[in-house]
Amino acid sequence: MSRLPVNAVIGLSRAELSEALLPLQIERYRAGQIFDWLHKKRVSSYEEMSNLPAQLRRTLAEDMPFSYPEAVSRRESEKDGTVKYLLSYPDGALVESVLMHYRHGTSLCLSSQVGCRMACRFCASGILGKERNLLAGEMLEEVYAVSALEGERLSNIVIMGTGEPLDNYDEVVRFVRRVTDPEGNGLGGRQVALSTCGIVPNILRLAEEKLPLALALSLHAVRDSLRHELMPGTRAWTVRETVEAMRSYAILTGRRVTFEYILIRGLNDTEEDAQELARLIRGIPHLVNLIPVNPVAERGFCRPDAAETAAFKKMLEKCGINVTIRREMGSDVEGACGQLRRRRMEKLKAGPST
Ligand code: SF4
Repeated sequence: MSRLPVNAVIGLSRAELSEALLPLQIERYRAGQIFDWLHKKRVSSYEEMSNLPAQLRRTLAEDMPFSYPEAVSRRESEKDGTVKYLLSYPDGALVESVLMHYRHGTSLCLSSQVGCRMACRFCASGILGKERNLLAGEMLEEVYAVSALEGERLSNIVIMGTGEPLDNYDEVVRFVRRVTDPEGNGLGGRQVALSTCGIVPNILRLAEEKLPLALALSLHAVRDSLRHELMPGTRAWTVRETVEAMRSYAILTGRRVTFEYILIRGLNDTEEDAQELARLIRGIPHLVNLIPVNPVAERGFCRPDAAETAAFKKMLEKCGINVTIRREMGSDVEGACGQLRRRRMEKLKAGPST
């Protein structure tokens, strides 16, 4: 049989796994056993699949290799218990995963790409560019590895870490299907959320997928010129086209959508900005999530203080907007997307003496 790419096997459904095993001419029930080992018992090697013959385990390791990412570092916030992992895949690719504890359960913010090519100016992940996409199986491994390391089952997944999920469309959709698969991981669909910078054709495609997925748009500016300057990867679409794609998503799926709005002092925090935002999203079942900008040293953005943030929230409320201010998590462990990976890569580039 032909060899599957490393870690692709975890992203297969039970039926796909059965089909992939056909060339081995083994008993049909073996596929179910292997699937359960991977997704229910969550072993991290074929060696641990104790009810499989030794020869079959060796063949599988050769033809369908998989290997959980290793934790390069683990940092825990003293403020709120947020845990930030830097994980390394066998090819050396580094991704961040952040575990956050809420009253309603434990949520994992996971990465969908190694780096990102969208180059958003407020984000450390965009500075180094994109290295590669993650496979659905690798994203599942992020979930399984962190869950095993922490010894707890996750109740929510947010695809909001490094990478633009809709720039890795097929693998991300596959991941959402697998992580919510009742035969496998079995997370309820309402517990999975995805945040995009707004790749319009793929928002419209996603609306047709019939995935029980909460969708958030990183909007951040209501004027095209400012949005395109802040988020160069979105230059192909206007703000209006992007918001209208979100409207279609809300209509087709019957789900409320979220608009993320990073607040930057002096750039996007005026009364006109608030009014234009309200006008754009009128009629869309929505939540606006305000996020005071995280400082990324070389970009020089000013973070509004609590009073300024509250004032902008009030302006939106006056316009009838349903708005909240995001609670900051893990600020003492480089909680902002991409900072930990970036620091590690700079260290590796500088060599072992630094
Ligand atoms: S904010 Fe998201 S889309 Fe933009 S560069 Fe960072 S990871 Fe990429």
